[in-house]
Amino acid sequence: MAIKIVNGQIPNFDKGTLERADILIEAGKIVKVGSFEGDTDEMIDAKGRIVSPGFIDIHMHEETFDAVSGVPYFASVYELMMGSTTCVAGNCGNNRQSIHSFVEHVKEHGAPVNYMTFLGHNYLRRAVGIEDRYRAATTAEIEKMKALIEACIPYGIVGLSYGIEYSPGVDFDEMAELAKGFPNKSYLLSAHFRQDADGAVDSIEELVRLSRVTGHPMQISHIGSCSAYGHMKRSLELMAEARAEGLDILADCYPYDAFATTIGSAVFDEGCFERWQKGYEAILLTESPYANQFCTKELFESVKQTHPNMIVAAFVMNEHEVIEALKDPNVLVGSDSLYKLNQGHPRGAGTFPRVLGRYVRELGAIPLMDALRRMTVAPAKRLNLQFKGEIKAGYDADLVIFDPENITDLADFEHPTSPPAGIDYVIINGEVAVEKGTLERKNLGTYIPFETSEERVSESILD
Ligand SMILES: [Zn+2]
Repeated sequence: MAIKIVNGQIPNFDKGTLERADILIEAGKIVKVGSFEGDTDEMIDAKGRIVSPGFIDIHMHEETFDAVSGVPYFASVYELMMGSTTCVAGNCGNNRQSIHSFVEHVKEHGAPVNYMTFLGHNYLRRAVGIEDRYRAATTAEIEKMKALIEACIPYGIVGLSYGIEYSPGVDFDEMAELAKGFPNKSYLLSAHFRQDADGAVDSIEELVRLSRVTGHPMQISHIGSCSAYGHMKRSLELMAEARAEGLDILADCYPYDAFATTIGSAVFDEGCFERWQKGYEAILLTESPYANQFCTKELFESVKQTHPNMIVAAFVMNEHEVIEALKDPNVLVGSDSLYKLNQGHPRGAGTFPRVLGRYVRELGAIPLMDALRRMTVAPAKRLNLQFKGEIKAGYDADLVIFDPENITDLADFEHPTSPPAGIDYVIINGEVAVEKGTLERKNLGTYIPFETSEERVSESILD
């Protein structure tokens, strides 16, 4: 079916401007952009709206298919509702199921969004029987993990994600050796750093070194939760210096001053409150019977024992440093969406609208075109997605139509999955999936295998 979108403003990233243009979509592709005659079966009037390439979320945590039979998709539905049309799963060292079962499931059933995935290092550690997160892998275990990486290459994984903070025993040599499991250097490495706050600068240095030693591009995960404690400026400088040296380093960041993870994880090991210079009252519990309660020392210690897998939010970062990151030429917007059914951090339903509403419109902290670039064309280049991230003839028809005057994230810690306001349409693979805030069509997305390319240094966003 053909769709014609008329009267909208579309971003032209080559020129850095918004332009009035109509768009014709047929068979999943954008076939015409500009001014042309003729009506189609479906007409969308985008007067007063921006028609953007669908947002590309380079950092999300996928579903646990096995645990939610009957409700197979929720995280990616919230992604779709906030304008994401392509999402990268398997971040922070973690996969929630094998690559095989994830890929086959998406291929067979489709998904709300187009999916790509990393293979997670901590997932591999568990797969080869390492139960102690405080020890390094042995040589034999590393060889087994390398074999597992090789076995996943045919599934089109984006690369390897590390979750160093979650497995403090992981050492540098283990990480570097594993990268040898890839057939070439175009596979991405992504990493959830070793330690935040006072540990941030050392952690960024370690990741730069990992890129230098392995020759692979490095995507530093959610730099806000690593460095927005007085260490952002130096962290961004380190990245810029590494790029000047020729290394391909970028980061992603979500637009919130609180992070979220499970209370039993190593993130909450001894010394964390001192590092953050915050007390137990900075920790919000998100699941019953304690949903929306802030902690006391007693409550924190007891829930850590009784509910180690509960997702909790830690209000410990400085928002002005999160903004600093989101303004940096080497930082993409990534949601780090993480839900357990409907519980978790609002970033999974609010990230992109929050950047466009709060940081672009309300605070005037980021220019609109710059924000859009970090959500579309820049992550598309990062992921070698040749036909996504821009609105041009021949490109995939993944689009989001929103009102720049009204787009607002409505998810908060009490209602972490509330869809945003101001998004009129989300179109994925040429079909309308979301109309006026309502999910119209399910599972129009597909699995996208990563395409390897000639070795290259991917551009800074503002180059
Ligand atoms: Zn992470």
